[in-house]
Amino acid sequence: MTQIARESLIVQKFGGTSVGSIERIEAVAKRVMKAKTEGHQLVVVVSAMSGETNRLLGLAQQVDAVPAARELDVLLSAGEQVSMALLAMMLNKMGQPAVSLTGWQAGIETDSMFNDASITHIDPRPIQQLLAQDKVVIVAGFQGMSDEREITTLGRGGSDTTAVALAGALHANECQIFTDVDGVYTCDPRIEPEARRLDVIHFDDMTSMARNGAKVLQLQSVEHARENGVPLRVLSSFEDGDGTLVSFDSHVSAEVVGVALKSQQTQLEVALPIAELQDQLNLFGVSCWCQPTTANTTQLVTANEQLARLELVLAGKMRPLAGVATLSLVGNGVAALVEPVCAVLAKAGIQVQQHTCSTHCLSLLVSDSDQQLAVNIVHKRFVVETESLDNRPLLAVS
Ligand code: ADP
Ligand code: ASP
Ligand code: MG
Repeated sequence: MTQIARESLIVQKFGGTSVGSIERIEAVAKRVMKAKTEGHQLVVVVSAMSGETNRLLGLAQQVDAVPAARELDVLLSAGEQVSMALLAMMLNKMGQPAVSLTGWQAGIETDSMFNDASITHIDPRPIQQLLAQDKVVIVAGFQGMSDEREITTLGRGGSDTTAVALAGALHANECQIFTDVDGVYTCDPRIEPEARRLDVIHFDDMTSMARNGAKVLQLQSVEHARENGVPLRVLSSFEDGDGTLVSFDSHVSAEVVGVALKSQQTQLEVALPIAELQDQLNLFGVSCWCQPTTANTTQLVTANEQLARLELVLAGKMRPLAGVATLSLVGNGVAALVEPVCAVLAKAGIQVQQHTCSTHCLSLLVSDSDQQLAVNIVHKRFVVETESLDNRPLLAVS
């Protein structure tokens, strides 16, 4: 690990798998103790134990397919409270004074958007007071409190954002996101065996990766780190190493910087004109990719997890068409690649159903049954083979 100056303040975040059992919590406690004995002040953000948030969500959905948003946040915030307390107990037992705080005890204020709140302000004093007593401060990720004193959560993967926001508010020297892979790869290594770990990734590239499906960092955490100059690093909680530094100094100017895949999506046809549909979606806070098919019908693509909510909004007017995935190529030169990318996929019998292109991102809609092959082909052709030309592109998948 690159040396950080003694007596620095470090924010470390441990995700679900990293705190997934008592053994894992013990390993996390040892890692925290090591940093403490190196002389650092430590704020530790934890996620719920792996699978716990989904388990709680499943319970809620047994009661109601679309549970009341307020109560869902009360329920889901409980997951992080279990792991924070267990880690605090473990550290205290090992002889390291530690105290756990909920989001609201830690001064994390959010807007009122239940299930997808944004942090609006952090009062650093409660944590600073505990740090001054030489305690390790453990904070529940993913949660905060609104002006109305309601419990809110920050959207799936939101503990990353808790960590980055705390690092910003406390002027930490580094925010370290410990997870179950040893850094950011050119593609999700669980999907693409040839994916390569990056030592450094530019904020622009990481933002596009996260926006387009690389869940290794929640998009909001990258945006927050970028806006507030928070030094951000992704590391493995299972092994030592330098991980990946997210930085402003990297190969941002590469022609092809990244490709992302969003899976678990459904294409639907809705019997409404696009303007009317968009009004309805805005009203219910649902965001989707829409395109008109006729004057009175619109096709949209949505994440499967939004389907039950959409059904509520569009009762009787929507018809599922197919399972799809969105593959996105990211970089400054992607606009010129529409044809070569479509051609290479067509050669393998993969049909691109739609595409959209901006200056930095080319997104292609493919059938969900083609997604794995599409990723492998695009990674090979536009990452592995291009790397040998020193173009250093990336591929991201979720
Ligand atoms: P945590 O529970 O620690 O927050 P997540 O599951 O949210 O962990 O994020 C880590 C996962 O992100 C990895 O297991 C990996 O499958 C996935 N992932 C997606 N894209 C990438 C990428 N480009 N590099 C590394 N991991 C990625
Ligand atoms: N536990 C929450 C989730 O599963 C938040 C997080 O892990 O970052 O999405
Ligand atoms: Mg995560």
